[in-house]
Amino acid sequence: MVKDLICGMTAKEEFKFEYKGKIFYFCSNLCKNEFQNSPDKYLKHRHRSYDAEKIKERKIAYFSMEIGIDSSIPTYSGGLGILAGDFIKSCADLKVPLVAITLLYEKGYFIQRLDAQGNQQELPVQWNPKDFLKPLLKKVNIKIETRDVFIRAWQYDVVGVSGYTIPIIFLDTDLEENSEYDKGLNDYLYGGDQWYRLLQEIVLGVGGVRMLHSLGYTGIKKYHMNEGHASFLTLELLNEMKRNKDPEWNFDAVRELCVFTTHTPVPAGHDQFFYDLVDNALREFIPSDIVRMLGGEERLNMTLLALNQSKHINGVAKKHGEISQLMFPEYSIESITNGVHSSTWVCDSFKRLYDKYIPDWKNDPFSLRYALSIPNDEIWNTHQEAKNKLIDYVNKKTGIDIDSETLTIGFARRAAAYKRADLVFSDVDRLIKIAKDAGKMQFIFSGKAHPQDAMGKDLIKKIIIASKWLEGKIKVVYLENYDKELAKLLVSGVDLWLNTPRKPQEASGTSGMKAAHNGVPSLSILDGWWIEGCIEDITGWSIGTPQNTESNDQQDASSLYDKLEFAIIPTFYVGREYWINIMRHAIAINASFFNTHRMVQQYVLNAYE
Ligand SMILES: *Cc1c(COP(=O)(O)O)cnc(C)c1O
Repeated sequence: MVKDLICGMTAKEEFKFEYKGKIFYFCSNLCKNEFQNSPDKYLKHRHRSYDAEKIKERKIAYFSMEIGIDSSIPTYSGGLGILAGDFIKSCADLKVPLVAITLLYEKGYFIQRLDAQGNQQELPVQWNPKDFLKPLLKKVNIKIETRDVFIRAWQYDVVGVSGYTIPIIFLDTDLEENSEYDKGLNDYLYGGDQWYRLLQEIVLGVGGVRMLHSLGYTGIKKYHMNEGHASFLTLELLNEMKRNKDPEWNFDAVRELCVFTTHTPVPAGHDQFFYDLVDNALREFIPSDIVRMLGGEERLNMTLLALNQSKHINGVAKKHGEISQLMFPEYSIESITNGVHSSTWVCDSFKRLYDKYIPDWKNDPFSLRYALSIPNDEIWNTHQEAKNKLIDYVNKKTGIDIDSETLTIGFARRAAAYKRADLVFSDVDRLIKIAKDAGKMQFIFSGKAHPQDAMGKDLIKKIIIASKWLEGKIKVVYLENYDKELAKLLVSGVDLWLNTPRKPQEASGTSGMKAAHNGVPSLSILDGWWIEGCIEDITGWSIGTPQNTESNDQQDASSLYDKLEFAIIPTFYVGREYWINIMRHAIAINASFFNTHRMVQQYVLNAYE
């Protein structure tokens, strides 16, 4: 069967077009014209197309407000988006018949610039979706207030190790037919006010289901909501069933179809919308008493809506699942701990090392367990290569001359208050004394603050101020514009990965898993994934004790300093063989488990089956 190059539908004999001596067939004049207008664009396109059968075979629809697949497609802000991208890559490797849906943010997240005082400036991202995504021809519309909002879609194909592809459908409202306001609905990720955000979520949930069906994805057995942002899809499914056959609202049938992953361990982190906004936006879409029954009386709580309409519910680490269960005792909440996509996050030098000793590691990251047999000197040299690459980058960018012999500590993640980037500087005198008595260290920080997060922005300034206090004693750099590429350079190039979240707010955390894939141990608060990943002195070190459930800044800082002074620095400089043994266990014990191949298999077994 010949496939249309534009939309992937079955091509017809009558719509043919000759170009450079070859004949191309299309499904319709529309597609043929699209090709005629710019044939080279489609020919050089790396995307493949699907025939109708392949589309019908897809069984799982994965909805996420952000997906981070590549640093040149800036449709993510942090952990949630990167996780979604890694998850999809493993689905492609493992041939899980899934289709993913998200929004196309035309102005991306933002490019971060910092001035000498650490003030964050946000510059718009310039990117052209046409360079990376294939436009699809189907349009759907949804009703918002009293008007129609039209939605089109773009496709990106994630290709797995054996060539299996997972389509990501990016929804886009930038269409002639729409009002100026509606055209801009997918300009910004997490920008704008409540109303803007509400409409974005309606586009994702309601528009997403309609788009899937219009594209021919008629075999979907599970709708997976990656966080509550997509919960409106449950209302559209209810509506659809009623339109199709049932005279009554069939809540149970929708629940059978839905899977919900919650990512936030604090109630304030859950999206909530005032009902005057919701009622105004949805109008006749669905009776308002149904929305209140499912989403809460006072405000529409998107988490509650997802909880009420999902058969399988899970948190993103063991502890996070337990906390979510306590928060919502009337639901049954399980855990599937997050992971990272192994071959995405292993740096070039470690790739070569694994290829030599564990040839099948990309297909089968569980076999990273065999890292236990890699000789010490090879692990160390491989790490030094990655470290030198990072150090060259830092020295070129900042002019601060850091060196490759000093213990290098990395801290990079969203600059959010609960992550406490400044905890390590809470007693600079003690830190200076440790550096003098126990051994030298240097720090590399990075991370963007959300444009509306004043506390997050302050945190960046505090690091810059601390770096000035420490000048001449301990080198501290803050790298601008943390993104996927910089993250990879950092997690592979530092000697130690630091994480100091306030308990119990780190649902999982994933950057430490990326570090483990490159043989970099963590020093972290026992929260999120680290409760499962930390074996003291074997895979890294803990800050604080497992017993205290709430964080105390002073106690945590003191524990952090003790670990640096008495365990970490001496091992790094004096017990180098032992240090390398820890690196090896970070790979063998943690990378072999905290990867998305394992995570996807758990979703298939526990959530999708
Ligand atoms: C991995 C990653 C994150 C998430 O890291 P956490 O440890 O979960 O905070 C955020 N941003 C980028 C660019 C990443 O690569």
